[in-house]
Amino acid sequence: MTSDARDIVVLPDPLHRLTRALFERAGWSARDAGLTADHLVLSNASGHDSHGVGMAPRYLRAAANGTIPRGPSLTTVLDAGALLTLDGGMGLGQVVGFDAMNVAIARAQTLGTAIVALRNTHHLGRIGHWGEQVANAGLVAIHFVNVIGRPALVAPWGGTQARFSTNPICIAFPRPGQPPVVLDFATSRIAHGKTRVAWKRGVPVAEGNLLDRDGTPTRDPSVMWIEPFGALLPFGEHKGFGLGMMCELLAGALGGAGTIPGRTGWDVIDNNMLSILIDPARLGGAEAYARETDRLVDWVYDTPAMDGVDRVRIPGEPEREMRVLRGRDGIPIDPTTWGDILEAAAALGLDEAAVRALAALD
Ligand code: NAD
Repeated sequence: MTSDARDIVVLPDPLHRLTRALFERAGWSARDAGLTADHLVLSNASGHDSHGVGMAPRYLRAAANGTIPRGPSLTTVLDAGALLTLDGGMGLGQVVGFDAMNVAIARAQTLGTAIVALRNTHHLGRIGHWGEQVANAGLVAIHFVNVIGRPALVAPWGGTQARFSTNPICIAFPRPGQPPVVLDFATSRIAHGKTRVAWKRGVPVAEGNLLDRDGTPTRDPSVMWIEPFGALLPFGEHKGFGLGMMCELLAGALGGAGTIPGRTGWDVIDNNMLSILIDPARLGGAEAYARETDRLVDWVYDTPAMDGVDRVRIPGEPEREMRVLRGRDGIPIDPTTWGDILEAAAALGLDEAAVRALAALD
């Protein structure tokens, strides 16, 4: 997402300090506030501002309304060897997701695989965060996510009204001694949060992403935020639509978590996630896995680039490059989002001077 001169630019460490302070003041433990800050700030640092600290005011509002519990909330519904069903108790996804992936990792390290249906969890944010957690433990991760607890956002291919949410998919592949390959995207053409960022910046989104309430194509992001709502389009025409529907079935129907029909309300972002973890050393052997993964990545890198493209990249690489850039130059936060953060901080007894001090802005 582009930045402009009105942005507030904060380095990742001070932004982490500020975010952690907000969640600690709102009643979370230092560990859980830290995990939440890790997730949100890394999303910004990775270039996904839609899933960064701009979400914090919304989470804090839901907490103040009593929707999100502060204490430990992950429970086991089913424990049947490689099959686990976990319930997040509507806890913060940034905490529940971390704890659930640790359970899944331990199981896959013992059995070679784990299939984990995680239900009833507040917003799990950037799903690549979970793929990276699993890949960093040396395991392959496949995640399918659906979103319930709020109305649909994405029109099925050929339809004029929303029927699904932006149901993301993530596949992460560890590479021994190298960063993982991490594919992580929404099945809509753009993430819903990206329309929020564009709307708050007062800029249109690109052609071909949105329908207005009448089903007419539009570039105006406000149709996703001001009633009567329009719809996002699926990516890849019927293919993205099909994958979004499979997310609904895999994350919502298979684990008994629930699918989207008839959902209403806005403050609750209820995610369900089916995760499949595989120990790559077990199926074809560690040596073949490492060799073939490296051969494939080199083969892809060796592709001649098109005009206007410096080189071919692999999934996960743009996020890593952005982390280097934003780690050096800081994370731009648009003035409206910064205003929302100041408001959330004020409600927790932190005035603007205190926020600026935590964010190392003065
Ligand atoms: P996107 O369109 O920016 O695509 C990102 C993916 O494409 C990444 O894997 C990235 O590495 C890869 N990629 C991008 N450019 C590339 C290039 N030039 N070469 C190779 N690979 C490239 O992502 P999005 O659809 O806007 O989703 C953004 C985030 O929103 C994701 O992290 C997703 O998990 C999250 N999301 C979460 C929810 C939820 O309910 N929790 C819902 C929707 C989206």
